[in-house]
Amino acid sequence: MSTPWQVYKFGGSSLGTQGRLPLVLDLIASAAKEPSRLAVVVSALGDSTDWLISSARRAAAGDQSGADADLTRTHFLAVSTAKQVLDGAALSGFEDDVARLLNPIRRLVEGIGLVREVTPRSLDEVMSVGERISIALVARALTVRGLEAKAVDARDLVVTDDTPQNAIVDVAATGAALRSAAASWSGLPVITGFLGRSKTGHTTTLGRNGSDYTASLVAQALGAKHVTVWTDVPGVFTADPALVSDAYPVTRLTWFEALELAHFGTRMFHARTVVPLLESGATLTIRS
Ligand code: ASP
Ligand code: MG
Repeated sequence: MSTPWQVYKFGGSSLGTQGRLPLVLDLIASAAKEPSRLAVVVSALGDSTDWLISSARRAAAGDQSGADADLTRTHFLAVSTAKQVLDGAALSGFEDDVARLLNPIRRLVEGIGLVREVTPRSLDEVMSVGERISIALVARALTVRGLEAKAVDARDLVVTDDTPQNAIVDVAATGAALRSAAASWSGLPVITGFLGRSKTGHTTTLGRNGSDYTASLVAQALGAKHVTVWTDVPGVFTADPALVSDAYPVTRLTWFEALELAHFGTRMFHARTVVPLLESGATLTIRS
């Protein structure tokens, strides 16, 4: 019997809010000591995805300096986040990673500025760099802590159609690609959420907040029985506590109740995230 997998997913605010990344690394390090194998799925840091979208849109509108400022913010957040956990050669190695990742995006955004038009496909390419920066950072930081970690770009594994911004995943092809990749992963994989690649070779994205969906695809492919979505809210409430004053946190939900909450707008239980887990009989834990 091969060792069972579990999947951890960390969202943008868990990674990109000052003070959080060291805690994230602690959580990963302690799960890595458990007998199960761990796969980690990460989103873009903080609000990077919004800034990247804004950059492309501002370039298309002729505001090149605004577009540059958005990319600079993205760059700055990556480096300032990294400084909490990296220094010396590891920090400069990561700074090189960020430059290598962002330089082609800067050129692309300049091109968008020249033609004054952003296509949904070029927007996908621009947006994708957020998650790619995250895996570079988290994998490097884990390595510095002495854990063998590997940055995995899900574009090489998640096979989609060509629908920009909201690509449809070929679940069978993706499952097969993930399983064969997993057979050769020696260290802990740190996987980009949200990203895929179409059969025609284009970068695609899975819809806003799509990293949860990536986590459930990974779990389903690897037969993981446990997925933990780490978040910075206290838990799952019966309703949005900002709107309903007597909303209260629940300890347990059936998948069908989760789907009902999804229907009423709870992003975490988007049907596309729930269905693979429901089918594979996995448990989803939301932890603060
Ligand atoms: N970074 C992407 C977004 O902001 C995906 C995610 O956060 O799950 O939509
Ligand atoms: Mg996000």
